[in-house]
Amino acid sequence: MKTPAAAQRILDTLERDYPDADTELHYENPYQLLVATILSAQATDAGVNQVTPELFRRYPDARALARADREKLEALIHSTGFFRQKAKSLLGMAAALVERHAGAVPADMAALTALPGVGRKTANVVLGHALGVPGLPVDRHVLRVANRIGLAASDDPEEVEQQLCERLPPSRWTRCSDVLILHGRRICKPTPDCAHCSITKDCAYYHSARRDSPAPRTARGRSAKKAAQRPSQRRP
Ligand code: SF4
Repeated sequence: MKTPAAAQRILDTLERDYPDADTELHYENPYQLLVATILSAQATDAGVNQVTPELFRRYPDARALARADREKLEALIHSTGFFRQKAKSLLGMAAALVERHAGAVPADMAALTALPGVGRKTANVVLGHALGVPGLPVDRHVLRVANRIGLAASDDPEEVEQQLCERLPPSRWTRCSDVLILHGRRICKPTPDCAHCSITKDCAYYHSARRDSPAPRTARGRSAKKAAQRPSQRRP
């Protein structure tokens, strides 16, 4: 796996590629980001952003949300999918915030993950973006891209989070997640577009694909790039 120095060099390059990388969920405070992140499971950020303005107008804080009528809430969030489970999570989360934290969102991983419907990824999103506490959310893009580059070596999101955090200072954790997500959406997709990637020289997957596909001497560079674009035998 990459050394901390290599990890920081890779992150420097990706931060230059994606200077505005940030969560695409719309929010104005930790409560709103917590609600939006719960809704974003199996949904697009754009789809969540369509329902949250009305949701936040009707339920501006945890106390209001805890008192929400379940059926009305389900109808409001229906388009984000899994609406029954999400409504249950939102109601449980809001009630727990009121009961345990006087309605405020705690800036603490253990307290956040003790809330109904809040996993480690959601907690890290809220900590890192809305509460000023270093957090490194690992979603499917971070998982795939970090493994390909060689920044991590695991299928388990919590292990990948730990491996990334060990290689970077806490001040860079949240940005790391943001840029890996964008890189995964735009370039290092399930079928990676290595020809347009700025970190090929540091990428384990790219070099492995080149080794696995020796090219004819006359077209070596072009063939190696093509090989790296194909899904390889390695884990995506
Ligand atoms: S070189 Fe290819 S596999 Fe490696 S990070 Fe870039 S796009 Fe992904």
